[in-house]
Amino acid sequence: MVRIAIAGAAGRMGRNLVQACEDNPDTILTQAVEHKESPFIGNDAGLVAGIQQLSVAITDVPDAEKFDVLIDFTHPTVTTDYVDYCVTHGKKMVIGTTGCDEALEQKMQKAGESIAIMYAHNMSIGVNLCLNLLHTAAKTLGDSVDIEIIEAHHRHKVDAPSGTAVKMGRVIADALGRNLSDCAVYGREGQTGARDRKTIGFETIRGGDIVGEHTVLFAADGERIEITHKASSRMTFANGAIHASVWVNQKNPGLYGMSDVLSL
Ligand code: NAD
Repeated sequence: MVRIAIAGAAGRMGRNLVQACEDNPDTILTQAVEHKESPFIGNDAGLVAGIQQLSVAITDVPDAEKFDVLIDFTHPTVTTDYVDYCVTHGKKMVIGTTGCDEALEQKMQKAGESIAIMYAHNMSIGVNLCLNLLHTAAKTLGDSVDIEIIEAHHRHKVDAPSGTAVKMGRVIADALGRNLSDCAVYGREGQTGARDRKTIGFETIRGGDIVGEHTVLFAADGERIEITHKASSRMTFANGAIHASVWVNQKNPGLYGMSDVLSL
């Protein structure tokens, strides 16, 4: 049985993770962590998640003796501290937080020299399958199409474009031998001029309770291909993260992705 600590346990994803951890026969929730001013400190993590009492009180400090894998779905400024914590205590990690900058990603890479970390912008099997399809589509269509990535999320999301959209852009840019930071165009307004075929466009929609939708458009003259993924429940990400925790618990130090977990 893999002992799980969840950082951000009272958040939107945290509550789903508590449930997914309880549903999985190979995992047990032993730690639920929130920031020190959270009104949920001291409350039972199961009740906060809307399931049964689990007798795991939400705390503001993790206890390394009590868990094997820490799952972080918080905020990049928080994730960086949990990476330090897990390296210091030799604990494995699953990181789902998005909006992490290059410095934090480099820190994860370095941490992977001493602990096993699984880091993915999107833990859903469907999205990771889409990444494979996008690679194939980009390789096949090459520079003959205009490529646009359109994503939609709920009104509370704090980063844009979504980590998944950026990952999709990276996969496509790699397949085409382009550097995403050189060819990405984020939104358009005013006299933009004609479209440069070598660019990859990103459009962001924020509203209501949309869980997460991504469409990649490959538009040619006379036809277009659209590859779309729509998430209708956060449980798809939570189940993926719990599955990844069981997987990473058996791994040697390294920085892994969801494609490693799913052998894609
Ligand atoms: P949220 O704001 O609902 O939850 C974040 C939680 O972290 C909050 O409860 C907050 O109190 C808590 N927190 C803040 N500081 C903390 C600390 N020091 N220690 C412990 N907890 C702390 O946000 P959310 O919608 O649950 O999303 C969280 C992150 O997960 C975002 O970056 C989001 O983009 C990402 N996400 C990733 C995936 C994926 O599959 N990888 C899927 C959905 C969301």
